[in-house]
Amino acid sequence: MVKRLVLILGDQLSDNIAALKAADKDSDVVVMAEVMEEGSYVPHHPKKIALILAAMRKFAAHLREDGWQVAYSELDDTENSQSIVGELLRRADQHGVAKVLATEPGEFRLIEALNNAPLDVELCEDDRFVASHAMFESWAEGRKALRMEYFYREMRRKTDLLMERNDPAGGKWNYDHENRKPAPNEVTHSGPMQFTPDETVEEVLDLVEAKFGNHFGQLRPFDFATDQAQAQLALAHFVKYALPKFGDFQDAMLKDNRFLYHAVVSPYINIGLLDPLEVCRAAEDAWRNGDAPINAVEGFIRQIIGWREYVRGIYFLEGSDYPQRNGLGHGRSLPDFYWGAETKMLCISKAVEQTEEEAYAHHIQRLMVTGNFALLSGLDPQQVSEWYLAVYADAFEWVEAPNVVGMSLFADGGVIASKPYVSSGAYINRMSDYCKSCAYKVSQKTGEGACPFNLLYWHFLDRHRDRFSNNARMGNMYRTWDRMDEGRRETVLSEADAFLKRMEQGELV
Ligand SMILES: Cc1cc2nc3c(=O)[nH]c(=O)nc-3n(C[C@H](O)[C@H](O)[C@H](O)COP(=O)(O)OP(=O)(O)OC[C@H]3O[C@@H](n4cnc5c(N)ncnc54)[C@H](O)[C@@H]3O)c2cc1C
Ligand code: SF4
Repeated sequence: MVKRLVLILGDQLSDNIAALKAADKDSDVVVMAEVMEEGSYVPHHPKKIALILAAMRKFAAHLREDGWQVAYSELDDTENSQSIVGELLRRADQHGVAKVLATEPGEFRLIEALNNAPLDVELCEDDRFVASHAMFESWAEGRKALRMEYFYREMRRKTDLLMERNDPAGGKWNYDHENRKPAPNEVTHSGPMQFTPDETVEEVLDLVEAKFGNHFGQLRPFDFATDQAQAQLALAHFVKYALPKFGDFQDAMLKDNRFLYHAVVSPYINIGLLDPLEVCRAAEDAWRNGDAPINAVEGFIRQIIGWREYVRGIYFLEGSDYPQRNGLGHGRSLPDFYWGAETKMLCISKAVEQTEEEAYAHHIQRLMVTGNFALLSGLDPQQVSEWYLAVYADAFEWVEAPNVVGMSLFADGGVIASKPYVSSGAYINRMSDYCKSCAYKVSQKTGEGACPFNLLYWHFLDRHRDRFSNNARMGNMYRTWDRMDEGRRETVLSEADAFLKRMEQGELV
């Protein structure tokens, strides 16, 4: 007799997921469901949907082989109610049970839906993270500022990663001053490992094409890993060929190279195909074996047990209103060029083009190109956040919202960032080769052809003077602005206004 249903969501495809660990193979039924509601509450990139559905189908087959009874709803099953709660109710009815074991979803929307379902749902905490909710809360308690760097040290101690007894390996916690070099002339790495779609993946691709072909993003070619074994191969490939130079060129951008030395493992970690600690240990082993330098390995590990854990902690600590915050009162609509319309700004068009084709852009493209532009030009944080949630294969609200609303747009009022991540074109020029081929001139501050980032940078500082002029880390910026003669300041502001107006009217900018 069936005792309980065990819900496994599309980003919970791990053998050690909490609900499975608490379940009984002999008497519980695993419920997995492909539903329209999840595929379309934002217009997810078709590659992202295909990745999740293919990985779900393979994980279900793996569970069956392992002896689990799995009730799996395919998207086009005629009886599919097309929502998670609807499918749980249908399975509950079929098996005559009302008890459900589930692992806490990474989104308040779904947590609420499960809590409100007319079923007896037990939510287990997702323990695939180093920091539990209780641990993050206790770290945050009483602190005036929740800065990642201190939290990261706790994570190093807790995991023992890159530690020599009680001290950080090599004597320093952070090797960033050796990282972040400008774009290299040549990239020796050929990019992430690619996988030819098998029969299961091909079936899913046809389905996604039929149901979500109208969403922004190219479905084919599709070469993501879709099971744990493939994801392991992708990780090993990164560690061997890219990790040694990861730190050096972590912030660099090249118009003809989309991945540089990045890992492209976030989609796999976030849906459960890779375990974050295993990923970190693979990197640490490379350092201990002399195959990768400490600056690269420490930088990489910091992204995972530092930033990734930290943003999740912030999301759950701050609560369900966090994704809706708009601390700077920005409300301009997202321009069509975020959805692939033409723009003369090469940095934006390149970042969007690769997002459309790969469902991927690396951190600095997200933060200092599309994010920086959104912040400088005062775009509505919710529209921007919805865009990020839709277009990236690794986007789930617990990680997307703090990165976008907090880190990138400063819309959380400074919970995550101590100052806004804004820059003029100079930063993009230093870290990329975009500006050399752009229709705008990065060296030009005003007048016909001036880089819009240059104009908007000062416009942003000027319109938020009350909020930021007393920020110690921004004093220099304001002093430089104030030293400019008044006529020049007026020109900058009026040209920035004119640019924003043209953008709002849908003109080619
Ligand atoms: C505006 C903005 C939006 C973002 N949205 C997402 C998102 O929806 N999902 C997501 O996983 N990451 C997001 N990030 C963080 C980061 O950009 C991606 O994790 C990274 O680009 C993934 O590519 P990669 O695997 O090649 O990463 P690498 O550069 O190789 O880094 C290694 C790993 O570190 C982790 N990581 C690095 N930075 C962060 C971070 N800030 N937050 C969380 N994890 C991090 C990821 O797991 C990543 O796989 C966002 C960053 C910004 C600035
Ligand atoms: S000149 Fe300005 S708009 Fe053009 S690529 Fe450089 S930063 Fe971007």
